[in-house]
Amino acid sequence: PACYTKPKAKRFEHRFSTEAKSRKVRVSDASTLKTAARFLKNPGMISLGGGLPSPEYFPFEHLDIKVPTPPGFSPEATKQSGSVLRAGKHDIKEGSSVYDLEIALNYGQATGAAQLLRFVTEHTEIIHKPPYSDWQCTLTAGSTYAWDTALRLLTERGDFILMEEYTFASAAETAFPLGLKALAVPIDEQGLIPEAMDALLTNWDEQARGARKPFVLYTIPTGQNPTGATQSAERRRAVYLVAQKHDVIIVEDEPYYFLQMQPYVGQGAPSVPPPANHDEFIKSLVPSFLSLDVDGRVVRLESFSKVVAPGTRVGWIVASEQIVERFVRNFETSSQNPSGISQMVLYKLLDEHWGHSGYLDWLINLRMEYTERRDALLKSCEKHLPREIAHWAPPAAGMFHWIEIDWRKHPGIAAGKTRDAIEEDIFMSAVDHQVLLSRGSWFKADSSVVEEKMFFRATYAAASSEKIDEAISRFAECLRGEFKL
Ligand code: PMP
Ligand code: PLP
Repeated sequence: PACYTKPKAKRFEHRFSTEAKSRKVRVSDASTLKTAARFLKNPGMISLGGGLPSPEYFPFEHLDIKVPTPPGFSPEATKQSGSVLRAGKHDIKEGSSVYDLEIALNYGQATGAAQLLRFVTEHTEIIHKPPYSDWQCTLTAGSTYAWDTALRLLTERGDFILMEEYTFASAAETAFPLGLKALAVPIDEQGLIPEAMDALLTNWDEQARGARKPFVLYTIPTGQNPTGATQSAERRRAVYLVAQKHDVIIVEDEPYYFLQMQPYVGQGAPSVPPPANHDEFIKSLVPSFLSLDVDGRVVRLESFSKVVAPGTRVGWIVASEQIVERFVRNFETSSQNPSGISQMVLYKLLDEHWGHSGYLDWLINLRMEYTERRDALLKSCEKHLPREIAHWAPPAAGMFHWIEIDWRKHPGIAAGKTRDAIEEDIFMSAVDHQVLLSRGSWFKADSSVVEEKMFFRATYAAASSEKIDEAISRFAECLRGEFKL
């Protein structure tokens, strides 16, 4: 197969932190057992060597979950014709499955269960086809945790990391207490501007900044949180070239990759038909950084949070074998692996029930659902918001709509009202009108950068079309009041 013809990843040990370099292979129960395994083969051996509790004392005999069966994905269809999947304690011994509760509920490998790991690895090959041979996956307890680990692996206190100028606030909050600072990269409606990133790195002054040149880029390329921007294929290629030029590791945080929607055609126009088959669906997806990664300099953070459920706390990373190995060493002494119950539930659903084909059907279904909600939100915005002061671009992916407010037209300016006071007033007035939006300034990567513009973030993920319409009409009323329109 391809893995024998593709080149190997470049080596990146020069990017590893002191912490990452200090991690040895842990002498854990799991790895000790592995070294001891050759003795287990001795006939008549009774093992008292490991440290695993006995499954006899796990108070779970089986687990039943009711899930959708394609194509009946709606909650109603699931109630009526969904399937009940059962995970038993001894399914392996009984020959009914390759994964059971005895295994799932005990200590396991820090890579996560081999059975679920195989599924996500196959899924990664189907979707991204990484262009080098020695890429690997390891399961994680979600992207929040994987990002924390990535920072420990790659950075030292005092370093700067590159981030979109508006970014996922929690990702910045992960970084700051580790002693890191954000270097905000300017963005446009397609996200990161490669020329701006190149200029920041080319002109980096170690002396003046008191820090080495940044070499970790944190980016949300698809349906960016909070701006909703999606980098085009061309944009990604340009960013990748800049990363190669400056030897930057790209951490792509992609929880919204499969929330890429149908093209926005505007109200009243005939909608674009759904992808006719899986091939067409996969071709419609914008290429990931991983799929462009000839060097092995991309760490891709994947998450089931937005495509299955956030409470599963399961995701995975994809990176070169060398980088994944350092993640696994960290996980062995921190999260270990995602919850066994979660892994079991996902394995039953994804591998045994849906398979890759059913999972792709599910993702297409999500695409159509999100398209409908996005279109409903845009319809409400077009109907209600005052165009003199409110501007937006239709989001192509994700769950966020980023609305720019032309604050310079605020009547309070003449009397000396500041931009920040206006943002605060609009926010509070919206709250008084019973609609909650997020303030753009909450997402600034570098709080010292003076904001020229003003934004509010609205999500179309959480409320029905009727609720969205009501909320946007309230926001419009609040804007008219504030701007005396
Ligand atoms: N602390 C001690 C002293 C232990 O013996 C063990 C399990 N061997 C752990 C912590 C690990 O606990 P957990 O499975 O909750 O991570
Ligand atoms: N990354 C981004 C960009 C997000 O917007 C979110 C959720 O809001 C997460 C990560 C959280 O992912 P997880 O639930 O896998 O930790």
